[in-house]
Amino acid sequence: MQKKLLASYRGLRAEAEATALRLHELSELPMCEVQSAALLRDVLSSHGFRIEREFDLIPNAFIAAAGRGRPVIGILAEYDALPDCGADGRTPGHGCGHNLLGTASTFAAIALARVLKANSIRGTVKLFGCPAEETLVGKCYMARDGAFDRLDACLAWHPGAGTSVNNGSGAAMDSITYEFHGKTSHAAADPHNGRSALDAVEIMNVAVNFLREHIPSNVRIHYAIMDGGKAPNVVPPYARSWYYIRARDRKQVEEISARVDNCARAAALATDTEMHRTILAACYDRVPNDALSAALDRNLRTVGAPRFSAADRTAAAELGPDGGFARGIGSVSTGRGTASSDEANVSWLAPLGRFNIACWAKGTPGHHLLIHQQSQLPAAMKGMAVATKALALTGLDLMTDTDLRRQVKREFRKLTKGKAYDPVIPAGQPAPVQDRPGCPCEASE
Ligand SMILES: [Zn+2]
Ligand SMILES: [Zn+2]
Repeated sequence: MQKKLLASYRGLRAEAEATALRLHELSELPMCEVQSAALLRDVLSSHGFRIEREFDLIPNAFIAAAGRGRPVIGILAEYDALPDCGADGRTPGHGCGHNLLGTASTFAAIALARVLKANSIRGTVKLFGCPAEETLVGKCYMARDGAFDRLDACLAWHPGAGTSVNNGSGAAMDSITYEFHGKTSHAAADPHNGRSALDAVEIMNVAVNFLREHIPSNVRIHYAIMDGGKAPNVVPPYARSWYYIRARDRKQVEEISARVDNCARAAALATDTEMHRTILAACYDRVPNDALSAALDRNLRTVGAPRFSAADRTAAAELGPDGGFARGIGSVSTGRGTASSDEANVSWLAPLGRFNIACWAKGTPGHHLLIHQQSQLPAAMKGMAVATKALALTGLDLMTDTDLRRQVKREFRKLTKGKAYDPVIPAGQPAPVQDRPGCPCEASE
């Protein structure tokens, strides 16, 4: 059956590569992935998948399914691009390689569904179309709205500069905007009648920067001022900052977020302005799964690492990275990273396994034009093929190997026992489009 599955991918390869190149051309920003999501839905539909669900409050999110009954195995697809990573450095581009990510996940689901059908194996394959990973939004909202409930296991991957299963964890995180509403006035003629919202943003930032001394050193807090007034001679009536607060787990994030909120309240009080806080996304730390990671590692070794050629090395070096490509498959990594992913939220709702596959040359910087440029080269297509096959093979194991499924679920239950999933994002709040939080005041103005 494994051989049939791998052979079935040979027939899909040309279509998969065309799909990845089309996503590359589209390069749509988070929450703007209208055509990218439609492309993947169309591809899935043409291969017999039904579009099971779309989400009123989450643009460009969808669930496509094939097969019937249990077990239900999910695969996560992402397809959003990043600003300023396109060919000229000023347009959006796939600076994180999500054109490869979304395509491999989609075609792994297709290859798996084909084999199940051909062998009359009971089970459902679900492909999750997850928008806005780069703003850590899509899966937080999909999880809140029940997308990942009743899954037996879920698989994910990410293109990178090396090949290995990743069973480590990242940081939990809150993404929050703080908006301040004051009163405008002529900055020279009657500043005493103004109440500056920008002052509030600055005082809040100063307070948070003093707070850093008194919080654990693993915590990361970063912010950007998204709106700080329009001209120096007009007292800004509106200002907004956007904060990321990262920590070990949800408990630590919530403790620190509450103290950052106090800084915002203090700034509003000091400046006689009004503050509105909107939580845009809430990420969890990731629940590891040794059994699922071992299955992914085994299948990755069956498929083998991508085999890069001298021509691949030359093509990458012409763009910049001249260190060549990683060879072979690394051991399963278990470290704790400082970055965050909305993928981790899924790991609290179903056993989640993931790997990274080399798709670009060593030394390529993350979130960069160089990734966009390399994500359409033959080398990237080799990495994408390895990812597709290893995901599909692991999906097949999960469908057919009752012992593996039992082991994976036992481990999941043990690690999540007594910890109910709290989506944190309020029910009914629409997913934010780009960085716009939809402040209640804006709606009434
Ligand atoms: Zn990214
Ligand atoms: Zn990414």
